[in-house]
Amino acid sequence: MSADALLPLLKSTFGFDAFRGRQAEVVARVMAGERTLAVMPTGAGKSLTYQLPAVALDGCVVVVSPLIALMHDQLRGARAAGIRAASLTSVDADWADTRQAYRDGQLDLLYIAPERATGEGFRALMEARTPALFAIDEAHCVSEWGHDFRPDYRLLRPLLDAFPAVPRLALTATADKHTREDILVQLGIPAEGLVLAGFDRPNIRYRVTPRISPAKQLTDFIVANPGPGIVYCPTRDGTERMAAKLAAATGRSVAAYHAGLDPERRAKVQHDFVASEDGIVTATVAFGMGIDKPDVRFVAHAGLPKSIESYYQETGRAGRDGDPAEALMLWGAEDFARARMRLGELPEARIAGERARLNALSALVETVECRRALLLRHFGETPPERCGNCDNCLDPPSQVDATVLAQKLLSAVYRTGQSYGAGHVEAVLTGRNDERIAQRGHDKLSVFGIVAGEEARLIKPLVRTLVAREALETTEHGGLMFGPAGRAVMKGEIAVLMAEPPVKRTQRASRGDGAAANPVGDPLFDALRTMRRELAAEAGVPPYVIFHDAVLRAMASDRPATRAELGTIPGVGAKKLEAWGDAFLNVIRQF
Ligand code: ADP
Ligand code: ZN
Repeated sequence: MSADALLPLLKSTFGFDAFRGRQAEVVARVMAGERTLAVMPTGAGKSLTYQLPAVALDGCVVVVSPLIALMHDQLRGARAAGIRAASLTSVDADWADTRQAYRDGQLDLLYIAPERATGEGFRALMEARTPALFAIDEAHCVSEWGHDFRPDYRLLRPLLDAFPAVPRLALTATADKHTREDILVQLGIPAEGLVLAGFDRPNIRYRVTPRISPAKQLTDFIVANPGPGIVYCPTRDGTERMAAKLAAATGRSVAAYHAGLDPERRAKVQHDFVASEDGIVTATVAFGMGIDKPDVRFVAHAGLPKSIESYYQETGRAGRDGDPAEALMLWGAEDFARARMRLGELPEARIAGERARLNALSALVETVECRRALLLRHFGETPPERCGNCDNCLDPPSQVDATVLAQKLLSAVYRTGQSYGAGHVEAVLTGRNDERIAQRGHDKLSVFGIVAGEEARLIKPLVRTLVAREALETTEHGGLMFGPAGRAVMKGEIAVLMAEPPVKRTQRASRGDGAAANPVGDPLFDALRTMRRELAAEAGVPPYVIFHDAVLRAMASDRPATRAELGTIPGVGAKKLEAWGDAFLNVIRQF
């Protein structure tokens, strides 16, 4: 059966007119009973590839999923689309009912945690009625190569093998080549069963800019982005301080989240965020895992992320609904300095790998080329040279050849004894009349006053660049000293090209126009949002479960007058039309 035959069901159940990316291929394989590993980035729409078969196939689709919070989110979404779905987890009270419903063939979709799926009781349930499909979510957990190995996942194999005729579908968003091959072996999926979707998230606009005054930069950014968002901060204290500053400066609701808060507080912050249409969370990287909120409009990093992989995963939480979203990273030389200092504390075997991670990050923050192209190449793709939706594509920075200036700067660091900070070195280079300089005799050095005028403004950004490239390091006391690449740069053996410093660009660039696609302030759109909020509260679900923003936007611009017209809007399936269609039509009629 080709996936096209399911298009009517795709429309009537989920309200979608077409498959996205490689969904059609995965669904076709599932319908044909073939074993499959689908590797698709977050937001690509993995769940649809088993939820649609759950409706189309006779029998129940069993989904193994490691995170209870995520399961319950999915459950709500599935039920809102009219799918008969249930879960068997430690927090479900209706086990007996669920098992009975399964035995009676009354379920389309059953979610279960891996540790339960491998138990005797569950095996007996599966024997009582053969499932239509085993879907294994977060399948990278089965591999020791993955970043999240869970021994429970290894015990799934006997269950799968006990039902050789039942197709299996493994799904993951994060698996490099090594991990992918391991998943295939561990779960008994043939190599031709791999469906690998592109990693590109074209609706996310990437911006990376030096951190000059973070609270101000983030405030401007948030003001330009009225939707929900996450601001990642490097420390627990940092999340709390930033929350207070941003709340005061923007007047929006901002909550801090980190592992040091008590569990109830954390659960509340997370719950409120998922339910909100404009909430902001300042968080450590502890936040985000297991949150399935499709309408996050921005993700900001107040400091350097740990690696390109974590940056991609964290920014990937924005714009899962496909609407425009923004990712902003603020970085500073001290981020690199600190990270490089920590290298010394690592076991020998890990140093090379960590250094490579940092070098990849320094290439990302420093490039004057397309950020997306760099990211995608990192994941082994061959993207076009320009994406048209990152800071460097939208507002190409010019490049400055700072090779000679770098030589002068390093000489000054060298001659002053490799212990002074950037401010002092700058003062020496520009020949400032300063007591401290005279006292130390630095005005007698050959490097005193050798940088003039225009070039002086490049000194600070160049320090950042040289730290990121390991030509400079910082001392314990914040002074500058040579790094491994320092000598070669000072001798002029390595060319130093850098982006023109973004003095004027930051203000302009942070006035985002990408994510604010919603006509907030349009009376009809606002009234539709109010209705959505009321219905969501009534149904006890987050607003996006009712309809995504894009659906409300289409309602506001198309102004459908009848159920039939409303039903043509993408995202409006039969079940939702019946449940909520009239409520929205009534709102539209009043305008
Ligand atoms: P993943 O699990 O891969 O991260 P989800 O399954 O949560 O992604 O889907 C992300 C979003 O994309 C959801 O809001 C979903 O409704 C939407 N989506 C999925 N498939 C389609 C499609 N064919 N057309 C339009 N939107 C889709
Ligand atoms: Zn680009």
